Amino acid sequence: MMTMAELLAKCPKIIETRNKFGILIKSDVILHSLDILLYRLSIVRHFYGKSMIVNSGYRDPEYNQKVGGAKWSNHQYGLAVDIADPERKLWDWINVNMVLMEELGFWFESKTATPTWVHFQIVPPISGVRIFDP
Ligand SMILES: [Zn+2]
Repeated sequence: MMTMAELLAKCPKIIETRNKFGILIKSDVILHSLDILLYRLSIVRHFYGKSMIVNSGYRDPEYNQKVGGAKWSNHQYGLAVDIADPERKLWDWINVNMVLMEELGFWFESKTATPTWVHFQIVPPISGVRIFDP
């Protein structure tokens, strides 16, 4: 089972911040996005049937900068999560189950950009491509 505590493990206090459009994203909106992310992930977990370890869930802006995250990283808005996948089992499963991923509304950073984890996000990149290079 996946929990909100896992998504908030590194940054338990949600900090409001502006997105790339200059819109201030309030903490209650970030929490709501995390709820949606968690719900969709729980469905993946259910069908995948194996444990899924959160490497990085919500990141406040300071922590995101500290770990070298992208300036407009979706992790700061509760829209993305990284799941550990050192043996690429999850990645392979996702690719076999891409129709489910599309139905759930997940987009992914490319395999080469995420060598030992899977980056899930619940918003499309500007390109709209399901698996994209960040
Ligand atoms: Zn990520």
